[in-house]
Order: sequence, then C-alpha cells, then structure tokens
Amino acid sequence: QTKLNSKIKDPYPDWKPGAPVPYAALCTTFSLIEMTTKRLIIMEHCALFLRQVMRLTPDDLLPTVLLMINKLAPDYAGIELGIGESLIMKAIGESTGRSLQVIKADQKDIGDLGLVALKSRSTQPTMFKPKPLTVRGVHQGLMGIATVTGNGAQGRKVDGIKKLLSASDAHNTGKVDITKDKGGPSEAKYIIRFLEGKLRLGLAEKTVLVSLAQAVVCHEADKRGKLPSTSDMEKGESILKTVYSELPSYDVIIPAMLSHGILNLRDQCKLQPGVPLKPMLAKPTKAITEVLDRFEGQTFTCEYKYDGERAQIHYVAKDAPQELSQAAPGANKEAAKGVASIFSRNSEDLSKKYPDILAKLHTWVKEDTMSFVLDCETVAWDTVEKTVLPFQQLMTRKKKDVKVEDVKVKVCVFAFDLLYLNGQPVVESSLRERRELLQQAFTPVEGEFSFATSMDGQELDDIQVFLDESVKASCEGLMVKMLDGKESGYEPSKRSRNWLKIKKDYLSGVGDSLDLVVLGAYYGRGKRTSVYGAFLLACYNPNSDSYETVCNIGTGFSEQVLEELHASLSAITIDRPKPFYSHSSGNQHQPDVWFEPQYVWEVKTADLTLSPRYKAGCKEGVDPAGGKGISLRFPRFIKIRDDKKPDEATSSRQVAEMYRKQESVTKNKGPSVDDDF
Ligand code: ATP
Repeated sequence: QTKLNSKIKDPYPDWKPGAPVPYAALCTTFSLIEMTTKRLIIMEHCALFLRQVMRLTPDDLLPTVLLMINKLAPDYAGIELGIGESLIMKAIGESTGRSLQVIKADQKDIGDLGLVALKSRSTQPTMFKPKPLTVRGVHQGLMGIATVTGNGAQGRKVDGIKKLLSASDAHNTGKVDITKDKGGPSEAKYIIRFLEGKLRLGLAEKTVLVSLAQAVVCHEADKRGKLPSTSDMEKGESILKTVYSELPSYDVIIPAMLSHGILNLRDQCKLQPGVPLKPMLAKPTKAITEVLDRFEGQTFTCEYKYDGERAQIHYVAKDAPQELSQAAPGANKEAAKGVASIFSRNSEDLSKKYPDILAKLHTWVKEDTMSFVLDCETVAWDTVEKTVLPFQQLMTRKKKDVKVEDVKVKVCVFAFDLLYLNGQPVVESSLRERRELLQQAFTPVEGEFSFATSMDGQELDDIQVFLDESVKASCEGLMVKMLDGKESGYEPSKRSRNWLKIKKDYLSGVGDSLDLVVLGAYYGRGKRTSVYGAFLLACYNPNSDSYETVCNIGTGFSEQVLEELHASLSAITIDRPKPFYSHSSGNQHQPDVWFEPQYVWEVKTADLTLSPRYKAGCKEGVDPAGGKGISLRFPRFIKIRDDKKPDEATSSRQVAEMYRKQESVTKNKGPSVDDDF
C-alpha cells in the first residue's frame, strides 16, 4: 500500500491523458510481474498499472483487465480463439520471413513459442517503423481472430496474428537476448502466449480482481485529494469480490464502477438473469460420521446427489413487468416463452443442447413467477420405467443444434436451489427459505421437472437409510447442506464446508474421484498397438498456473474408448512438454507423446502415495524431506469431463488435502510403493 499511495509518474512517453493505453506499457508491467513470485509484489504492479489506466485512459480499463486475465469476453459469450500450436508457428514464420522448419527447430530448442516469436522478431530487419500497438487495438485484433468463421477462417486467423506480430515491439529495434529476464517486456511474446491461452505470469484472476479494487479505491481517493483509508481498501475489495461472484462479467461491472464508484457497486450490479454465476461446490467426505461432526449443533438437510449434468437455468417471462425483468445483455432470446438460457457448470451456453427443456420450461413455472435463476441437474430419464438413467445415457445426447423432434434421450430436471426470483437475488437467504420459494414458484411434472428428493432427519441411522435409498434410485450418493442461518446462504464459485458430498463408491477410499488433465500418452503394446495404451495425467496448480503430474493410467478403458481417445488426442499432440508442465525429468519416465492441455478425465483411485516420479503437491509441502510428489495408486478411468476446462481440474491443494486426510497417512503408515500401470 505504501507504493500504491505514493504519487505516480507518467509511465510511458506516448501515453498521454485520453490516449489509448500503449500495449508496450502493459507488457512492461507483465514483465515486472513475471520477474517475481511474490504475490504482494505482483498485486502491487498490477494495481499500479490499473490505477494509471484509470487516471489517464479510463475507457481502456475494460480491455486492459481482459488482457490481464487472458480473456476476450465473459465465458458465457462463448468466444474462443480456437488456435493450435501449428497455426501459431505458421503465423510466426510468415510474419518474420522464417521457414516453418526453422520455427519448429527453435520451438524444439527453446520450448516457449512466445520466446520463439521474440527471437524471430528480433532477427528480422525492420524496413519501416510500424505504428505502436495499443491495448484496445490488441484486444480488437484478438477478438477479430477469435470471431472469424466460414470459408478460409484458418487462413484469416493466421493473417490476424501476422498483423499483430508485424506491429509488435515497434520500439525495439535492436537484438533481444531471449535468455535474459525471461525475454523482457516483449509484445510479441505476450501476444503469442495470449493466443496459447496462458500468459504464465503467475497472475491469477483473483489477484487481478483484488488489484482492480485497490486501484479503484486509490483512484477515487486521488480524485478527492486524499489518501485511501485502510477500511475503504478492505470495503472495496470485499464489495468487488461479492459483486463479481454474483455477476461475473467485467463488461457489466467496469462501466458501472467507473460511473458510480466502487462503494456503490452493490446497488448497481446484482445477480441478473442472463449472466451465469459460477456454481457453489461441495467438499468431499468419507463417512457419515464426518458429516455429523461437521454439522454438530446445526440443522442440515440431505438431498439425493443426481448423476447428470449441472445446469443453471435463467428465465424472464415475456410479460414480466420492467422491474422483474432486468435480463442482462447477451441473454438467449429463443425460448418458447420469454427469455431463457441454460448454462453449464463452467458458464457455457447449453441452450442449443437442451431445446426440449427450453420448450417446456414455462409449463413448470407458476403464473406469478416472472423471473428466476435455478440451480439444477439434468438427468437422463427412462420414460417407460419412470426412473433416472445412468450418466452414460446423457452423454449420448448431441451437444449442439439439437432439434426437439430428434431428441431420443429424454431428460428430467432436478432442481435443488433457487438463486434469483422475481427481480430479486435470494442467494443471501437461508437454504430453508430458498427451498420454500423454489417449491412455491414451480409445479413438478413427472419425468420433466422435479425437486431434488430431500430428508431433514439428523440421525446417523436416518442418513444411512436415505443414502441406501439414493443408491437404489440410481443416484451417486448424497449432498448434505447447512439448512438454516447465515452459513446456509448460496456461496457462488466457492467449494464450501456448508455443502458436503458423500459418494457411495468412496466411503472407504479417498472420499472422491479426481478430475485430471491428460498431458501425454504411451504407445500401446500387444492388443493396443494401434492406439495409446496408457496416459500421463496431472492436476492443476492455480498458484503457479502449472500442471503437476500425478499418475500414469491404463485401466478402465474399453477398446472403443481407446480408439476414440486416440483419434481426439492425436489431433493435439505437441513436440515437447509445455514449460508449465511439471514432471520428473528422468528419461525413463517420459511419455512417448505430449498433448496440449485440453481434456479433463474423471479418475478413481484406491489411495494416494508419495512418489519421486510425479510432482503433484510438491509445492504444498507434502514431502518436506525430499522432492516427492503425490501419486494415485491403481487409478481407473471413469469418464471424460466435457464440462470442465483444464484449469478447473482437481487442484494440487485438493490432492494434498486428500492425501493428508487419508487414514493411512494420518496413522503415519503411509504406503511408499511407486505406482505403475
Ligand atoms: P467437484 O468435483 O469439483 O465438486 P463435480 O461437478 O465433479 O465438481 P461432484 O463431485 O460430482 O462435483 O459433486 C457436485 C455436483 O453434484 C454438482 O456440481 C451437481 O452437478 C451435482 N448434484 C447432483 N445433485 C445435487 C444436489 N442435490 N445438490 C447439489 N449438487 C448436486
């Protein structure tokens, strides 16, 4: 805060008040951030820069924040760059007059395409001085690349990248030493990394959010000619965090903050239909007694844990009065009645996957229900037996452009929470109140819409019976939730102790399955020669923005699945591991092929052990004596998690927590066998 409070100088000669923010200025900040691992210093660089943007060019605050978090728009807008390594290499080659072969050789040698671009750029003679890049120009350029469609889209994407690269590092005419200072503040390097989807600055989105709050509070104090007070700083941070968790859209929040100030933001930006929020998540448990310990002295409810796909349904009735219908921009307008959208667990629009739900939605809604946001699970439904079907059935549904008349696998929506009703967010109400509102606002229809089956008994025996019933009803187990009081509020984007899950399969194991990213594969032997026979999996470390390996897996795959995996994974092979893959360096431990980090698989394990071969949890201090990481013993493939992005995989901290909670470890007789496949 000392530096933040000090008077700041104009940082860049060609950045005058009102002028577009030079992209080079942002890259200078990126470079400073890249040079440190200290979170507070990172936050300070970030906040100082944002404060400067607010002071000189507030119109650029939104694109600046977006470029900092490596996004072009909110997740629900569905804007994806869709660019692989080979397209980037082609663009680097063409824009710098170097052959693809040389670029590939450099990539093999350097291993970081950002630095390859920088090296290529700095060896190229500059014929004329291009106009320097600006933050808004780079954002627009990248947006253009992301949104080209139709014939020749790939070629036009390459052209878009070339255009940005040719204008990059205009200020920098001399040779750059790419081995020094991680390549320094090169624009080409950061453009390429943005295209790859990882800036690798160690700058977490949460850090940007807090820095933004600090910058805004300082700026507002500057305007009053005062120093920001610590209490305003804390208030600002807390307001922005809450507002963002309910309305995760900088496109809506930043303009509101600029017009109304941060301390008034809660009145301006509330949960709105049309902007999906990140769902509340549960913590795993291994025994009913663990649940009872956690909720001791408090009331809780148990619900069936349905095995389908999480869905957040947003709705505004066509004839809703203005005050009940503030649907946000971008909301889907194709619903049968009113405005409705369905969003996935990671805020992707599922409306084209579930037109059957959208078509019937209004028939489940009571007459005076004008707008809502519903948290629920869509589950495949057997219309003859009138029961739920396994998750695998749901997976056979088409993902896009589904026509209602073609739907073969029917789904039933099981609603378990209500986040917004008739113009008002209700996330702060208790679960008991939300449940009552939910039941008043909807009418169940068998096989189409139902409330999650629940039981409020507090005794171990009652819970055991209910768990058995849930399993008989083809559910995965139970969700146990705090029912009353402040702690029972809905906590968007949080994995909370106020929601616990008990999965039937894991009662004696590690408590939960893991969702892991596929980084590499080994060629099959024997019957599996034409496909990959085993895979290298990793968890995600959000602090270092890296993937830490955790096991090899070769069990749980049918032949058909192996063939499908071979087809989809062959398309994303890369020549060498990304610099943000953390794996043991021993030659005998390297997979035959490496992949882009794209697919997430759910995996079951017998237990967790320490191994020198893997890196999971190394930075969590699980092995203070040496550099061993955690690995899974007897891992088994369960399913592909299409609804999770790689950075939503199980985190290293969660793996470390599971390892520490393991009975064998707590009893201090941890197995030390190295796993294999
Ligand atoms: P994570 O493992 O990150 O918690 P996940 O999606 O893998 O996420 P699960 O372990 O399957 O989560 O448990 C939580 C999920 O269970 C929810 O995301 C939701 O999709 C599903 N679910 C089914 N029934 C309920 C219920 N009654 N209440 C809440 N969630 C439920």
